Amino acid sequence: MTIRRNTRKIKVGNAYIGGDAPILIQTMTAVKTQDVDAVVASITELANAGARLVRVAVDTEADADALAEIRARVDANLSVDLQENYKLAEKVAPYVDKIRYNPGKLNLVARDETWQKKVEYLVNVAQQNDCALRVGVNCGSLDPEIVARYLSDELTDVNPADPLIASALEHVDFIESLGFTRYCVSIKDSDPQTVRLANARFAELRPEIPLHLGVTEAGLPPRGVVKSRVALEPLLAAGIGETLRVSLTVPADQKTQELDAARLILANVATGAIADASLLRDRALNVISCPSCSRVQNSRFVELAQKVEEATSFARNYPFTIAVMGCRVNGPGETDGADIGLWCGGEKVNLKSGVTLIGTFGYDEIIDRTLELLYQKIKLFDAAQLGGAALGDGLYA
Ligand code: SF4
Repeated sequence: MTIRRNTRKIKVGNAYIGGDAPILIQTMTAVKTQDVDAVVASITELANAGARLVRVAVDTEADADALAEIRARVDANLSVDLQENYKLAEKVAPYVDKIRYNPGKLNLVARDETWQKKVEYLVNVAQQNDCALRVGVNCGSLDPEIVARYLSDELTDVNPADPLIASALEHVDFIESLGFTRYCVSIKDSDPQTVRLANARFAELRPEIPLHLGVTEAGLPPRGVVKSRVALEPLLAAGIGETLRVSLTVPADQKTQELDAARLILANVATGAIADASLLRDRALNVISCPSCSRVQNSRFVELAQKVEEATSFARNYPFTIAVMGCRVNGPGETDGADIGLWCGGEKVNLKSGVTLIGTFGYDEIIDRTLELLYQKIKLFDAAQLGGAALGDGLYA
């Protein structure tokens, strides 16, 4: 039997995260927040399917207005996802049970104000509205000050988990200096090993703080489920993790798959069938894609991610990462670290090579342009292989 950690127990609506509470399964809606009927239907379906907490993205005043209507029509614990516009917190807090903020996004508005002032505001809003908070650190949108600190020449041997942990620690130290403890932390990365390392290390340093586990941009099932298993099962088996969300690139009306995957992970942990990294060693090519949410700018995004996965499968032995993201909010930043990045706008898809924008292309054209870029990278890669057999022999003219 797994011995769970004894973290703080925080109240979220009529549920609890941490302490002696069962591990809470949560997910997120992926329909437009202002389409109130669709959001109500999605939340109801997800809650009926076992989600104890459902997250909704809010970016605008109109989204916030819609949330008030949604709250009145659903019987579920709600969390709001605030990215760039943290100031909407006071508008949405009366209608939700938890507020997620991203430390790496606070710098994008009210730039002349310190992040500490912004967090103090969020803590006050949460306190006044009987809400919990989540400090949601994400690899694709790290606080630029933290990134600069870890890129400094004086630091060598930086593990990708280090800046993620540093960002989380900085925020929890500050939140606690305000006397607030009703919060949890998430530290997400698209690499399962980094998720494992970062959360295990954070749990060692701050064992009292409940952790929300997840792999960001895990991608399409079934591989997205395997990545989540590889990251989360060892952590949960070690007693780490008080709530989880499995992020999968699936259509908005199939989000219950995320709940099924979360239950599979918990069942595996209960029976000791713990996944290890060898499950991912069957191929070198890594296609990552976001789970989509209400911010997705074109409903063809999920189909596009599937097409990219299929069209690039011939390059399975190449150690490239291809990232496919659904919107401009996280797309530009979260494709920077990939060899090939695609982030979706309403009519066009932005194609990147590393941090460089190659161009914007229509949805009917983007697969061909992506393959051209992939062939170029394969040629360069093969040319750099000294003495070894070219991995791409025969794959391109
Ligand atoms: S990249 Fe955009 S659409 Fe995709 S999950 Fe993140 S915020 Fe939502």
